[in-house]
Amino acid sequence: MPEGHTLRRLARQFADVFGGQQLAVSSPQGRFAGGAALLDGHVLVAADSHGKHLFLHFDHSLVLHVHLGLYGAWSFGGDSTFAGSSSIGAPRRVGERESFDDGAGGLPYDGPPAPVGAVRVRLVGANGWADLRGATTCETITAAEAEAVLGRLGPDPLRNRRGDAGRFIANLQSRTAPLAALLMDQKVIAGVGNVYRAEVLFRRRLYPWLPGSNVEETEARKLWRDVVSVMTDGVADGRIITTTPRFWAGHGKAAARAAAARTETYPAREDAHFVYKRDGLPCRVCRTTVLIAELVGRKLYWCPSCQQPA
Ligand SMILES: [Zn+2]
Repeated sequence: MPEGHTLRRLARQFADVFGGQQLAVSSPQGRFAGGAALLDGHVLVAADSHGKHLFLHFDHSLVLHVHLGLYGAWSFGGDSTFAGSSSIGAPRRVGERESFDDGAGGLPYDGPPAPVGAVRVRLVGANGWADLRGATTCETITAAEAEAVLGRLGPDPLRNRRGDAGRFIANLQSRTAPLAALLMDQKVIAGVGNVYRAEVLFRRRLYPWLPGSNVEETEARKLWRDVVSVMTDGVADGRIITTTPRFWAGHGKAAARAAAARTETYPAREDAHFVYKRDGLPCRVCRTTVLIAELVGRKLYWCPSCQQPA
């Protein structure tokens, strides 16, 4: 499932490619025909995300609310000026732009192709289109209903508004569930998924089963700051990188400097994480074998030596 950084990039992308445009909105599959009709012909005025939720605001105060869930995905296409990625979630580098000339042989853009598969909603602007498939939630709601959705969610580290750190700390400390479960609870903190969950616990050397109520305020604040930091990097990088350059294979000092300056250097996929999907491999820090556990129905990766109970 995409984590919060992907949704933030998605929101930016919608603002970039469709912002200020009157959109044709339809439901080729038919399941969202009523909701699409409410938006059809209106202007997209803002696109935003909170946690794993996407909100597209239209000029008549109605909102397209989408949660991708496990299987949802957006795909984009359009002419050479349409700065869309072919599928959201695919790794992209900072500033990279993909463009599309629909049709073979350099034919000019002549509108979107016939929909393929179960397209729940299709948005079409002047220069391109976006198709949504397989989402858990796709609904047209009022601005007040969108506010109500936000009210049920915890703070989003990518917003990091005034008071958010305090809200996160209070949310943690008022619960006795294990820290690793609380980080995945969207009412406690919005946008963290399985990868960031495992990685930030390791980075802070936290025992995954530590009850939320036992997390000291200072540590909770450092944890919040670390989540803000790694997820902000994720928005810039278009992928989750939680290791620092000294853990990347084959990178000399010059490459490490370039990486620190966030230029073209990125780690190989297998070097990007400390513990996520590294069960059975030696911990990058202490060489202890990384373990896997089942927690709230999701696999948790952790180092039993680096992440001991306090
Ligand atoms: Zn370790």
